[in-house]
Amino acid sequence: MMLLPLLVMLSAIPGQALYFEVPGAIDVDAVTIEFKGQKLALAPSDNDWFGLVGVDLDVAPGRYPLTVTYNSADDQSNTEVVDIDVRVKDYPTTKLRVAPKYVQLSNENQQRATADRKLINEAYSKTSPEPYWQGAFLVPVRGMTGGRNFGHRRVFNDQPRAPHSGADLTAATGTEILASNAGKVVLTGDFFFNGRAVFVDHGMGVLTMYLHLSEITVSTGQMLRKGEVIGLAGATGRVTGPHLHWGARVGGARVDPFSLPGIAAEEVSSP
Ligand SMILES: [Zn+2]
Repeated sequence: MMLLPLLVMLSAIPGQALYFEVPGAIDVDAVTIEFKGQKLALAPSDNDWFGLVGVDLDVAPGRYPLTVTYNSADDQSNTEVVDIDVRVKDYPTTKLRVAPKYVQLSNENQQRATADRKLINEAYSKTSPEPYWQGAFLVPVRGMTGGRNFGHRRVFNDQPRAPHSGADLTAATGTEILASNAGKVVLTGDFFFNGRAVFVDHGMGVLTMYLHLSEITVSTGQMLRKGEVIGLAGATGRVTGPHLHWGARVGGARVDPFSLPGIAAEEVSSP
C-alpha cells in the first residue's frame, strides 16, 4: 500500500508553510512526517490525516527529503520519501544609511532584548503536539488584504539585518486584532522590539504572533476560538507607526503567515 501514490516531488519556496493531507486508509493508525529536523505526527480528521510542515526563510535552494512513516494494521512500519524542491526566491532588499545611534542598542536595551528572546524561545518550545487549529486560517485584521512584506531584507550601513519574518498589516491604533485560528495563548508581554505582543500556539508545531499592540485583552493559558479578539493594534515597541506585525512559525521554521492554509490567493494583493 502506498499512502502517497501521486506525490513524487513537491515544490516550495523559503518561508512557505506546506499543508499535508494524507488519505485516511482504514488500517493506518499513525502517520508521522520528518523534514529538516522537524518531526510531526499528523492528526486524524474524518477521512484523512493532516498537518503542516514549514520551510524556513533561510533554507538554501535545493532538494530535501520529506519522510512519511506510518503503521499499518499488521503492525508494520512503512516509510515513503518525497523530495521537496525548494526554489530560489529573491525577496526584495532595501539598503539604508542611518546615523549609528539608530542601529546600535545601548547595553541596557541589548540586555532587555536578549531576555525577551529567551522568554519567547521558551514559549516556542512549550507547544502542544495535539491540534487546536482546524480548517482555514484568518487574516487577523478584518477586511485586510495587503501586508506582503514577509522576507524583505534590510541592510543598515552595509550591515545586513535579520530578514523580516512576518507580514505588516496596516491597522490604526485601536483596530481589533483577531486570533487567526483556534489555539492557546502561550505568552503575552511588553517586549523591547515587539512591544505589547501575544503569542498563540495552534498545536502541531504551528504558532502565530501579533506584535506592537496598544492593548492585550487575553492572558497566558487562555484557549481561543478562531476569530476571537486578542487585543487592539498599536505602535508599541521599535516601530515608526501603528500597524500589526503578524508572524507565523511551523515546526520552528519562520514562514509567511499568508502561506497558512485557507488564506485564498484572491484575498491577497501586493501593497
Ligand atoms: Zn514587521
